[in-house]
Amino acid sequence: MGFLNRILHRKEAGASAIGVAEKECPHVALVPHWDSVDDIGIADRVVRYECESCKAAFTREEGERRQSAGAERLRISEEERRDRLTDHPS
Ligand SMILES: [Zn+2]
Repeated sequence: MGFLNRILHRKEAGASAIGVAEKECPHVALVPHWDSVDDIGIADRVVRYECESCKAAFTREEGERRQSAGAERLRISEEERRDRLTDHPS
């Protein structure tokens, strides 16, 4: 009787466990932030980038690097991802 329920429950738990393990934010949706409203829109004046999905903050250099890496990532697929994994073996 509870057989189906048990399967469904286990499936759900397994899926969420995998989801947590694999849900490493790629930080592709970086939003630039400026100190002054006068600077808004000026790439050189960006003080930091913030990831729209996980709210992680990055320096301008890091943000720009990640942005271009993210753009690449959308074009290139598996190979690029493997390269990134070897770059950051954490
Ligand atoms: Zn993120």
